[in-house]
Amino acid sequence: MARHRTHPRARAGAGRRGRGRKPRPRRLRRCRGQPRRPSRHPGPRPGKELSVTPLPKIELHLHLEGAAPPAFIRGLAKQKHIDIGGIFNPDGSYAFTDFWHFLKVYEAATSTLQRPEDYHRLTLAVLEESSKSGVIYTETFLSPDFCGGRDLGAWREYLHAITEAAATAEAQMGITLRGIVTPIRHFGPDKARETARCAAETAGDFIVGFGLAGDEKIGKPKDFAWSFDMAREAGLRLTCHAGEWGGPESIRDALTDLRVERIGHGVRAIEDLALVDELAERGIVLEVCPGSNIALGLYPGWRKHPIGELFEREVKVTVSTDDPPFFHTTMQREYDLLHEAFDWDEAVFRKIARTSLDAAFCDADTRARILKRLEPDHA
Ligand SMILES: [Zn+2]
Repeated sequence: MARHRTHPRARAGAGRRGRGRKPRPRRLRRCRGQPRRPSRHPGPRPGKELSVTPLPKIELHLHLEGAAPPAFIRGLAKQKHIDIGGIFNPDGSYAFTDFWHFLKVYEAATSTLQRPEDYHRLTLAVLEESSKSGVIYTETFLSPDFCGGRDLGAWREYLHAITEAAATAEAQMGITLRGIVTPIRHFGPDKARETARCAAETAGDFIVGFGLAGDEKIGKPKDFAWSFDMAREAGLRLTCHAGEWGGPESIRDALTDLRVERIGHGVRAIEDLALVDELAERGIVLEVCPGSNIALGLYPGWRKHPIGELFEREVKVTVSTDDPPFFHTTMQREYDLLHEAFDWDEAVFRKIARTSLDAAFCDADTRARILKRLEPDHA
């Protein structure tokens, strides 16, 4: 998804430590600032009892187009005679050199997705990849901007194709999908209103949430308050990208002006410990995507990522992949590298999965069904 164009390294880490706040008690054995000696091989250490591989996972932050496997996009391009050969590495993965190039490659890849049938196939391909990582429940961002140009009739056709694919995936792979309708911030508030109308008209068992993606630096959250109010009145639950390319103030604005209950990313809250405490006290859930942040240069490495400190300070953090093939990641890889970086054990990952399920926007029956599958003794 398009993001802010200022290079992240220019701001990342600026003013990270707040003053005058008493740190919350740590729950983990390892202190901040005392990272374990780096391993030559990322992943669980040899001889350690823990295996995070079989753990069931819940993912709350995934862009459907951004999760398109490169082979799938190559196939669509070939079928439609669209020349996008330059966006792949020799090994078949997406090729980009920096953040700006990433945006261009992303746009080229999504240009192959033109019809509801394409989204049917895309949904199946994405869920197949997620299920390989043990994901049993996923929420994905869907945009009527890309699915029918915000025309309600066309949006319904795309949505029908996506929900049919989701039902097939649930029956065949045991993975449940729900959708969060997401206007694109840099397309402006007027288009967001049209998107909100599409969301309100299709709110229900599948479309359960409303969010805001795109360039965090364009416009203010309050510009989109009308759309969020409409979505809320339609019964949709609310989230918003903030605190990724924007600083702590972007998180405060989203909470105040849009009254969201989750924040997409939100990791730059770490630059304002008063905000961190507020997030913890209010139970605001962060959809954290460490691999995405690191791949795009927001943080220099896994041990420098703030998810460890946010967790220690009792913020409700969850783990997601954002646009996984672009960042060469999967949910399993996120778990493996978090285990390696922060010494998180199975109990931590189970807690994160439970936090994620509690924060999921699905209905109570679906939550109860998924909860049974999170039980340690579930077959
Ligand atoms: Zn995102």
